[in-house]
Amino acid sequence: MVEVNIILTGPPGAGKGTQAKRLVDRHGVPQISTGDMLREAVASGSKLGREAKVIMDRGDLVPDPVMIGLVEERLRRDDCRAGFILDGFPRTRAQAEALDALLERLGREAIRVVAITVADDELQRRILSRGEGRSDDTEEAVAKRLAVYRRDTEPVLEYYKDSVSLVDGVGDVDDVFARIRDAVDAP
Ligand code: AMP
Repeated sequence: MVEVNIILTGPPGAGKGTQAKRLVDRHGVPQISTGDMLREAVASGSKLGREAKVIMDRGDLVPDPVMIGLVEERLRRDDCRAGFILDGFPRTRAQAEALDALLERLGREAIRVVAITVADDELQRRILSRGEGRSDDTEEAVAKRLAVYRRDTEPVLEYYKDSVSLVDGVGDVDDVFARIRDAVDAP
């Protein structure tokens, strides 16, 4: 079986969530959004949710072991057999290494890495005007999330340098999706 295993990465505000949903429609494999998983935990009031909320509201990253555990549990589920769209994970080099080890242990095929690129001033503008009412969309938290992205997540692109496709995230949603589709379909 040919698996469709995709990592969609990029800075906050790049449109990962929207584009991930389109990939789900196209490939029929689940979206695994670690941000959504954490927000569900926050909404449920679980211990994880209570701890994560403080970290998320600051714009920081939830610790690697927690995230790696969550993703492992999710990827082991049956609905991921034919593939998955990872949105928001891995966000650190340690997460990327753990994911590689996990996929190897699970005997999974290779992953495709697509990174959406958008300049910082455009991101700030988009996030502050998106009006989703997220508690981590304050000006301070947004600036922190961008800084954390540049410091901790951009090095992940270096880790995947042999396989990553960079996709320009400026333009309308359909145009950006067309670029992502081409990157996913490239031999
Ligand atoms: P997102 O919806 O992907 O922007 O994620 C929202 C917030 O959840 C982030 O700012 C982090 O605090 C946390 N988060 C999501 N995914 C991860 C991850 N892979 N590692 C650490 N923290 C994460």
